[in-house]
Amino acid sequence: MAWSALPPAVLRCSVRDPRSQQAPCEHTEPRDGITTHATSDAIALSHVSRSFTIDGRRIDAVASTTMAITTGQIVAIVGPSGSGKSTLLRVISGLLPPDTGTVTLSGSPVSGPDERVGMVFQEPRLLPWRTAEDNVAFPLELRGEPKAARLARARELLALVGLSGFESARPHQLSGGMAQRVALARALALDPPVLLLDEPFGALDALTRDRLDAELLGLWERIGTTIVLVTHSIPEAVFLADRVLVLSARPGRVVADVPVDLERPRRWESLDALASGSAASTVRRALEAHASIDA
Ligand code: ADP
Ligand code: MG
Repeated sequence: MAWSALPPAVLRCSVRDPRSQQAPCEHTEPRDGITTHATSDAIALSHVSRSFTIDGRRIDAVASTTMAITTGQIVAIVGPSGSGKSTLLRVISGLLPPDTGTVTLSGSPVSGPDERVGMVFQEPRLLPWRTAEDNVAFPLELRGEPKAARLARARELLALVGLSGFESARPHQLSGGMAQRVALARALALDPPVLLLDEPFGALDALTRDRLDAELLGLWERIGTTIVLVTHSIPEAVFLADRVLVLSARPGRVVADVPVDLERPRRWESLDALASGSAASTVRRALEAHASIDA
């Protein structure tokens, strides 16, 4: 089952405009086990920088970066290889402390690995000896949830990403796209208001990627999670996002903030047209102007 084919019963707010500054719902509350996030949550970075030392040489990965992301928005980040995109996501998630600056989620600071953030990487990073449902349930296990409850939740999430019937499959039995669906389900296990996706479909073939992009939108329309997605694909960024942030070559700075003023719901069939649309060409020009590649 495709994600977009899911019943709207999981929706708490049937009508939501992610571009609106106003919270479309008053509060969040579980419904059918799925919580929607549509309050005044936001991600805010203030003067965040981060450097590394490699062989005694200092590498500035992220320069002083300030940004705010409205609750329920999808924001895409594009930038040259090595421009600090992954570093930025790791700082937002609390996995990596910034050298300077602060990160807040819904106004409260991130000070270490934060349960309010779910992450998906380019590779699924599943535990190979565990079944799909045990992988999805893993964060709940770490939190000490009883077995029956965490398995019920894992099954529900696998259904949400279109993987009913694959609960007992092990990672080596899954296609790349299916494994990424499991990784996404696991990222949603703790019901985070923020989802960070670091080139999540970048290793997949183009058709699978297009399909997963469309299904990700269907999923987002239901749960309303704030999403920050790193991608190298301009069409993917424009198709998914409300805003595209363009980073300069290292150290990454935001050099363009391009709104994507396209109606939602967006459909897969419109993807090709978006690649040559005006938002895409603005992003492409900004990238070309600032792309001195690190690789
Ligand atoms: P991107 O995701 O945009 O390709 P990264 O954030 O992965 O870029 O990396 C930005 C820069 O920081 C690169 O030059 C990379 O070598 C360096 N870097 C990232 N992580 C580490 C690390 N853990 N140790 C040392 N250097 C790192
Ligand atoms: Mg990266």
